[in-house]
Amino acid sequence: MNQPCDLIKDLLPLYAEDMVSPYTASLVEEHLAHCPGCQKELSLIKHPMAVAASRDAAPSRRAAAPAPKDTAPLGKLKKKLLLKKIQAIVLTAALALAAALAVFSYLTAPIYFPYSEDLLTVTSTEDAVTVAFDESVTGYFCEEVREPEGAATYFLSAWTTRLDRFLDRSGTGDLALPKEAATRISFTQNGTGSEGDIVIYGDQSNSFGTVTLPRLALSYYMQLACILFLLLAVALLIFWRRRSARLWILRLLLLPASYILGHLCVKGFSGYSYHMTRDLCFIAGVALLLYLALLFGLDLLRRR
Ligand SMILES: [Zn+2]
Repeated sequence: MNQPCDLIKDLLPLYAEDMVSPYTASLVEEHLAHCPGCQKELSLIKHPMAVAASRDAAPSRRAAAPAPKDTAPLGKLKKKLLLKKIQAIVLTAALALAAALAVFSYLTAPIYFPYSEDLLTVTSTEDAVTVAFDESVTGYFCEEVREPEGAATYFLSAWTTRLDRFLDRSGTGDLALPKEAATRISFTQNGTGSEGDIVIYGDQSNSFGTVTLPRLALSYYMQLACILFLLLAVALLIFWRRRSARLWILRLLLLPASYILGHLCVKGFSGYSYHMTRDLCFIAGVALLLYLALLFGLDLLRRR
């Protein structure tokens, strides 16, 4: 098919720099073969000085001297293309890292054990209480809560992870706690389906019906992110016609959107957390990487 000269002339700067696909190159060449006008245009692009000189019947001395080539527009274009390439690479890397982090979080999420007699043994010596775990346990959390009168209760939970199971890892070190007059160890069964905390060492009175509840902060953060998202979405509709405002609102909107996506990647639809720091770190990490990817994605779409 014969291409119109205007189209070919638009492509020539890229063609001259070898920055077109083989298909485009073949189209340009096909057209050049029988179009003297575009051939001239191409040689003008390739040798702007030579053509300018030959156009002058009597070249002056100044024209003969090597003058700086007028390649500024092309340089700009190259820079733009390079920037686009870098953005695409960063976008892909951020997405891949976010996915890897989400998978890692899933694999290393604690799976808690319900209490059973085989799960752990408690022994006490004169100045220490030692908890030894079954081989199936690969980790534990122990949180100390000290009452004003000085009595210490240790809330203990035992867990393993999907990764540990997959790698056939087993066992964890013993836990040694200082033995005081009122030391108490309470085993928490974090959402394993078994109800309540079980006192495995120390005073058993006033321990009935204690349940360690999951922290709900994550679900509040999620609600906050959803509200922010909706507000910004409304703002976006209101300011849709103002180009620069629209862009900034869109960039802001991506923040709660990334957080929501991060939460879904790490916690699914659950807002519970028995280990806030861990969950929040993973969510923040995934959300940040996703935000980076979305920002670059937005920019790439905008420049197209
Ligand atoms: Zn032509």
